[in-house]
Amino acid sequence: MWNPWRGCHRCSEGCKYCYIHKGDAKRKVDTDRIVKTNGFCAPVAKNQKGEYKMKPGQTVYLCFSGDFLIEEGDPWRKACWEMIKERSDLHFLFLTKRIQRLKDCLPEDWGEGYDNVTVGCTVENQKRADQRLSIFAALPLKHRNIICQPLIGAIDLADYLDGVELVVVGGESDRYARPLNYDWVLSIREQCIKKGVAFQFRQCGTHFMKDGKMYTLKKDLLSAQAKKANIDC
Ligand code: SF4
Repeated sequence: MWNPWRGCHRCSEGCKYCYIHKGDAKRKVDTDRIVKTNGFCAPVAKNQKGEYKMKPGQTVYLCFSGDFLIEEGDPWRKACWEMIKERSDLHFLFLTKRIQRLKDCLPEDWGEGYDNVTVGCTVENQKRADQRLSIFAALPLKHRNIICQPLIGAIDLADYLDGVELVVVGGESDRYARPLNYDWVLSIREQCIKKGVAFQFRQCGTHFMKDGKMYTLKKDLLSAQAKKANIDC
């Protein structure tokens, strides 16, 4: 995990029960204040022997306490790209709901993309899929994922799956969460199978509809229940 900064602003329907805002509210932290963290230089930090503290070969989850493409990060991002380039022995993955900003946030030598970067475009319903994935599909990227989490409506992804390595689906977690219909999950899975794209059902929703019945699940069971479905492929 590498969080060079933290904080975010809600920007679409999928942000309603954002786990960062919820966690911060409990600790009385203002999520809308975007601040650099002490771990800003984590990927290039070294120990006393002069070795990188982050061991080679790992996947680094970037900016999971915010959005890597948020406007406030603009002055800091160039330094992040330099660290990402220096650590070509690590693989960096970030998710974003602000894919429309990516082309203006890329480093000059990006070309067709860095080999060690995967970008995950998050979409929660058909409207956001059409808006964001049409932009996503046209961007130069070596590795791309689509993240449908929280999924709050049926989505037809068929037009956007070319070149995608993985589609992740998950429900919303909250007492007041919008329900996840299992039919939507299976439909996305079918779309992935048709296009030969890997599919992962990462978590159920707190309110989960299957075969016309609504279930309410505890937060700590959401991932286990999805795993039990055994539909990843
Ligand atoms: S974009 Fe992501 S991190 Fe930012 S508020 Fe929305 S859900 Fe939270």
